Amino acid sequence: MTFHAKFSGYADPALHAAGLYIGGKWQSGSGITVLDPSTGNLLAEVADASIEDAQRAVDAAHAAAAGWRATPARQRSEILRRWYQLMTQHAEELATLIALENGKALVDARGEVAYAAEFFRWYAEEATRIPGEFRRTPSGSHNILVDHEPIGIAVLITPWNFPAAMATRKIGPALAAGCTVILKPASETPLTAYAMARLGEEAGVPPGVVNVLTTSNPGGITNAMLADSRVRKLSFTGSTGVGRVLLAEAAKSVVSCSMELGGNAPFIVFDDADLEAALDGAMIAKMRNAGEACTAANRFYVQAGIHDAFVAGLTARMMSLKIGPGYDPETQCGPMITQNAVRKIDRLVSEALAAGARATTGGKPLTENGYFYPPTVLENVPVNASIAREEIFGPVAPVYKFESDDEAIRLANNTEYGLAAYIYSRDLKRAMTVGKHIETGMLGINRGLMSDPAAPFGGVKQSGLGREGGVTGILEFMEPKYYAVDY
Ligand code: NAD
Repeated sequence: MTFHAKFSGYADPALHAAGLYIGGKWQSGSGITVLDPSTGNLLAEVADASIEDAQRAVDAAHAAAAGWRATPARQRSEILRRWYQLMTQHAEELATLIALENGKALVDARGEVAYAAEFFRWYAEEATRIPGEFRRTPSGSHNILVDHEPIGIAVLITPWNFPAAMATRKIGPALAAGCTVILKPASETPLTAYAMARLGEEAGVPPGVVNVLTTSNPGGITNAMLADSRVRKLSFTGSTGVGRVLLAEAAKSVVSCSMELGGNAPFIVFDDADLEAALDGAMIAKMRNAGEACTAANRFYVQAGIHDAFVAGLTARMMSLKIGPGYDPETQCGPMITQNAVRKIDRLVSEALAAGARATTGGKPLTENGYFYPPTVLENVPVNASIAREEIFGPVAPVYKFESDDEAIRLANNTEYGLAAYIYSRDLKRAMTVGKHIETGMLGINRGLMSDPAAPFGGVKQSGLGREGGVTGILEFMEPKYYAVDY
């Protein structure tokens, strides 16, 4: 890997890894360019794995599998705990690397590193508490004993929007369960993944237990790995479209899949909400990572009595944000990941404006270098506009007015997605009653942020299959084995 001289001062050079990481060896290479989204300039170049490299990664994961599975849980736990400590020690360098390659504001990048490291701490703890069962059948015929075994080699595919946390949310439980893994990070943000692999090496992760490869041919490489009968798990985080393709591919060899896919979160504000609290929550739910989050509030449904005050307050807050490169410590809203992302946001906003919406701030891309879209608030948006159906993945808040609780529920559920939702109301009974009817995997009540390593993260409908984090996350990487026992 080469790291562009202009930017090398921003991050600890010791964290700049050399390229593909297979079987505990670093293999240098080139072919994938990493751009600084705030300028479009070249940041670094990393290795481009071939199908043969992917096969070598499966070989390495296989060679390490028996040893890792047999390693006592306490020892696996201590390695994860050291990895957590190293990430914490190197938090500032990792945050800078994330801000550089992803573009998110340093404050968000620091939050991500802390969140990411917590998955290693949580799964260091969970590694020593893998559950089992022992009971008698209802008929009294015999005993049921259930053990949980590591599922086998896991392929982990992660998106660019949380380059550290999406990786640790998979590596943590997989290693705790006793699985070996091959991580394929997004090619837009590979530097963080390689830097974390360096820290894993230092933490004592044995060669082959974690392998990392970047590629310009994700489909070809993933299909080759899924076709290898030694691979037993695919854990994917990314768009619903790619998730569907991978589910079909995994079906060919009946590989177990965990899918963390797209979202279209409704953010419902009732008349009785605490306005300031709702605005604080809205800013977090919308603007963390400049809107590039799967849990980002995508549709603001605001009850008629509080609507105008909410729009005015949100507009003032969005207008006050400082736009700039993520690595500038003053920045509150960084660039989007690519020019294509800006084009998509521009299309959704333009269509909404043409259909009768009004921008109270923002509304068109900035003309400076880099992939910037300004914080934008839209009001009077038709409820069937494309911006209400598609993931915006940017700093745009469309606001829709509603009258009754039933209408809010109907609007909130009018989507193929079901990842996250938010409700603001001072009446907890009302919030819980409405919440019960909302089709979602996660619901924030009077909170704009719900992610926590100790809680189950995931969606219903087309937002995914399975849960990451929490006490069940480790079971995604295990198979129950039932022993029928008589004695
Ligand atoms: P993406 O689906 O384009 O890419 C995700 C990953 O899949 C990348 O590593 C990419 O290289 C890889 N990929 C692409 N095509 C592939 C193929 N044919 N075979 C194998 N791998 C392939 O998504 P993205 O643009 O990187 O990320 C944004 C999306 O991720 C959004 O939809 C967002 O909602 C979703 N997301 C979901 C969660 C969640 O936990 N539910 C978290 C973060 C992001």
